[in-house]
Amino acid sequence: MFKLKWKLTGMYLLLAGFVLFLAGVGIVVETSGRLAGGLLGIFSTALLLTVPLAYFLASGFANRINELIEGTKSLVTELSVPKGFQDAGDELGELGGNIYLVTRKLQSTIRDVSRESGKMAAILTSMIEGVVALDHVGRVVLLNRSAERMFGKGEAEVQGKYLAEMLRESELEQLVRGVLDRGETNQYEFVHDQRILRVLMSPVTISRLIQGGVLVFQDITEIRKLEQIRTEFVANVSHELRTPLTSIKGFVETLLDGADSDPEVRGRFLRIIYDETGRLQRLIEDLLTISHLENRRKISGEISSVVQAFNRVAQVLQPLALAKDIALDVRIPEGLPQVAIGEELLSQLFLNLAENSIKYTPTGGRVWLEIGAEEGQVRMDVGDTGPGIPEESLARIFERFYRVDRARSREAGGTGLGLSIVKHIVEQAQGKLHVESEVGRGTLVSIWLPIAN
Ligand code: ADP
Repeated sequence: MFKLKWKLTGMYLLLAGFVLFLAGVGIVVETSGRLAGGLLGIFSTALLLTVPLAYFLASGFANRINELIEGTKSLVTELSVPKGFQDAGDELGELGGNIYLVTRKLQSTIRDVSRESGKMAAILTSMIEGVVALDHVGRVVLLNRSAERMFGKGEAEVQGKYLAEMLRESELEQLVRGVLDRGETNQYEFVHDQRILRVLMSPVTISRLIQGGVLVFQDITEIRKLEQIRTEFVANVSHELRTPLTSIKGFVETLLDGADSDPEVRGRFLRIIYDETGRLQRLIEDLLTISHLENRRKISGEISSVVQAFNRVAQVLQPLALAKDIALDVRIPEGLPQVAIGEELLSQLFLNLAENSIKYTPTGGRVWLEIGAEEGQVRMDVGDTGPGIPEESLARIFERFYRVDRARSREAGGTGLGLSIVKHIVEQAQGKLHVESEVGRGTLVSIWLPIAN
């Protein structure tokens, strides 16, 4: 196809040639004298005839330009151009072609950008941390779903508002100023709605200019709680270790100071030292059991027979019961299904529960252990006619080192860890646990364990 400049030149030449041709005809006619009328008439006729021709050629261009205008209309509204937009081989065709290419490029860039922003939105939405983005003056421009939940406000509600309007934390505001004004990276911890939040703040910099800041909020309430439990646990363990150690040290010192010369005193003191050493040993064994339970994952694939597990501890329990003249009544029916828990842990359950019952039941009382199958589970009841547990203590007896009566537990040789070990084991075996008790009448602890498949 011809270039536009050639087309325009051609059109001009065509028109000029046509006018010249008509003029030539006029002159010939005039000089031959065969036709009346002046030269002016001939020129007017030429002009009249060229107008429709000029109009015809100009409309051709006008149509092409209109096509371009129409095509770019859909570019504005839908970012697309009609097919064949670039088909002509002249400059207008090239212009159309360029517009078409730019449109395609824009379309693919927009697709990439929206894919990226979709990814970003999905990440922000699924983040556990709350994310708040601020502009350069500290107005909220973005709030992810976790942040909405943390602060009980929707994104639309706070967008464009200053952070201070959302969170009244003057120290946090100061730190945010440091981020936005000086590009600092800060962190801060505060309590909001009874939750402990830690916020990490950093500036958003584009071409070395601070354009805003990003605040990431973490809910660290559980972490702090666990830290507190750990600190209390260490303090408790130290205290529990110190008491018998102080006692042992005191008696050994007295013996060294000459008390060992009296055989009666020596025997009594050695007995106390022996008992305290036993207490230390039990405490350390219980601590090791807890640490072992905490380090292992969920119980899976382990099975054991209830009868066998009980027989492992029966010879420990019988003499204890005998010594206090307690009737130990054990009812384990035959043909019980196996339970989904290891034999050692099951024995530990029996031992801790039955030992407690024997320990706290006064001389001449009764302790019973009854086992039966119940809806896909094995139920174990350990009951006694002991002193019972006050209602307000029932929820706490599974806490480490909690004792209803410290002196009584100590006298009975308790470590304060027995029931917390029981709870741990039952949870790991995905079982259930329930305690019923009445002060002055006795206690009944029931445990349900899943049967092995
Ligand atoms: P301890 O080593 O002191 O027995 P446990 O964790 O086994 O620690 O029990 C916690 C507390 O619960 C005990 O100190 C005791 O006060 C109470 N308790 C547990 N079992 C019984 C029971 N059978 N009868 C009365 N009180 C009990």
